[in-house]
Amino acid sequence: KKIGVQNIIATTAVGSLNLDMKPGDFVIIDQFLDFTKNRVTTFYEGGERGVAHLDVTEPYCPSLREKLRLSAQKSGIAVHTKGVYVCTEGPRFETPAEINMFAKLGGDLVGMTNVPEVTLAKEAEMCYATVSMVTNFAAGISPQPLTHHEVLETMAANAENIKKLIMECIDIMDTDTDCTCQHALAEYGGFKL
Ligand SMILES: [Zn+2]
Repeated sequence: KKIGVQNIIATTAVGSLNLDMKPGDFVIIDQFLDFTKNRVTTFYEGGERGVAHLDVTEPYCPSLREKLRLSAQKSGIAVHTKGVYVCTEGPRFETPAEINMFAKLGGDLVGMTNVPEVTLAKEAEMCYATVSMVTNFAAGISPQPLTHHEVLETMAANAENIKKLIMECIDIMDTDTDCTCQHALAEYGGFKL
């Protein structure tokens, strides 16, 4: 924010809870479930800044997500255009019982990095979108276990595609266009560094 960045494209490696989202697939996530426990979740912790109640009806920038979708289409990369990301505290992996619970709650993917980064970016009035890369099925989801070799192969193929996708997206970005994300805290007087 201090150096003038307006758009953030984040990547995450995730486990999948959804049999339609397979190892190697890309997902332009649109919602999250927050199961983190020990993180600073806001720039607004009272005091001089006060408290701000951020609207997260659309936690990820719809405009940037659409640009990612178009870039994928142009690059011939198949993507899922929505998905629910479950963020766990980690660093340990999830138990099969936890995975079962997340799937029942509507989660598609599980990772440890995307929250609260996404909401902090929104508080800072920046456009933020994420491409999640499925590396494996979560514990107890896949009928047959994936080998470590398969995960490495998938990641290697993905590394090229994710670069292609992001470069294409940067090409079609227009930093002059205004976005609602850049006014996310308008009713609180806007974000101040
Ligand atoms: Zn935006």
